Amino acid sequence: QAKSAGRNGYRLYDPDEDLNQAAGQANRDRIRAALRSGQFELHYQPKVNMRQGTVVGAEALIRWNHPDQGFLPPGEFLPLIESANLDVEVGEWVIRVALAQIAAWQAEGHAIPVSVNIAASHLLQPDFPTRLAAMLAEHPSVSPRMLQIEVVETAALEDITHAKRTLDACRRLGVSGALDDFGTGYSSLTYLRHLPVDTLKIDQSFIRHLEDDADDLTIVKSIIVLAQGLGRTVVAEGVEKVEHGTILMALHCDLAQGYAIARPMPASAFLPWVRGWTPDTAWCMATTVAR
Ligand code: C2E
Ligand code: MG
Ligand code: MG
Ligand code: MG
Repeated sequence: QAKSAGRNGYRLYDPDEDLNQAAGQANRDRIRAALRSGQFELHYQPKVNMRQGTVVGAEALIRWNHPDQGFLPPGEFLPLIESANLDVEVGEWVIRVALAQIAAWQAEGHAIPVSVNIAASHLLQPDFPTRLAAMLAEHPSVSPRMLQIEVVETAALEDITHAKRTLDACRRLGVSGALDDFGTGYSSLTYLRHLPVDTLKIDQSFIRHLEDDADDLTIVKSIIVLAQGLGRTVVAEGVEKVEHGTILMALHCDLAQGYAIARPMPASAFLPWVRGWTPDTAWCMATTVAR
């Protein structure tokens, strides 16, 4: 049915809207079928402590293992999920799978905190904290401290009062928050003061040319100093080169994530990767020397 009713209560027939709704329903059916048949998967990318070189956790990143198209990156299907209004359904699937994965790694003797990416429309659901608590209760062996929620900076700023309230409620459950893609939201750094997040992730666009862009270097340096001054942990995203690591070490960045350390990988590859990651891995040697 048409969403918009006219001034007198008449609905104007809009063939485009019918088409959109039909397409939306078709997408919804496809995505739900894909969820049910196990075509969605979480891959995990390690985060390492820059000072110690230790693996301190993983970010869960969704993949669609499409029967015809192979692995699709989220950029290709997240808009579809959003337009089908399935942000909540998919987001809750992500949280459940991540919690089950934390429990599985724990059972193998490894405590690996996992962060999940949450869409703004999902985070801003009034019952988000309640439903999160229920999902946590499904995994009594997993401490809520093992889970972190990543919210893109722009999303958190959409409705800062609501975002703050929700993140506060999550924090009371023991689940911490991270501001993702930091620096892309044109926000004042002082916003950070108001947001109950423990972690700030510097967007990869500032890291990419760090070795030869003086402006990026200045921006990254300022973000690190300010965020740490406010008691936050700083993660650099998109650390692709050893040079990035070297510079970030010198700037006292806390954590790093990127292809220079590891690409996102299926869950089954993660513990073998952790076992193979030693302080004399090339990337870590270079950064250790820089300290
Ligand atoms: P993000 O949360 O900022 O995740 C980081 C993205 O950068 C990931 O792309 C990751 O694979 C990629 N990346 C990591 N290291 C490097 C590097 O060194 N170089 C380069 N060029 N890229 C690197 P991915 O997996 O394609 O995800 C893209 C975005 O999609 C994510 O950005 C996140 O905003 C969103 N996303 C991913 N998974 C989920 C999910 O489960 N739910 C929601 N709502 N969004 C998700
Ligand atoms: Mg993220
Ligand atoms: Mg990011
Ligand atoms: Mg991003």
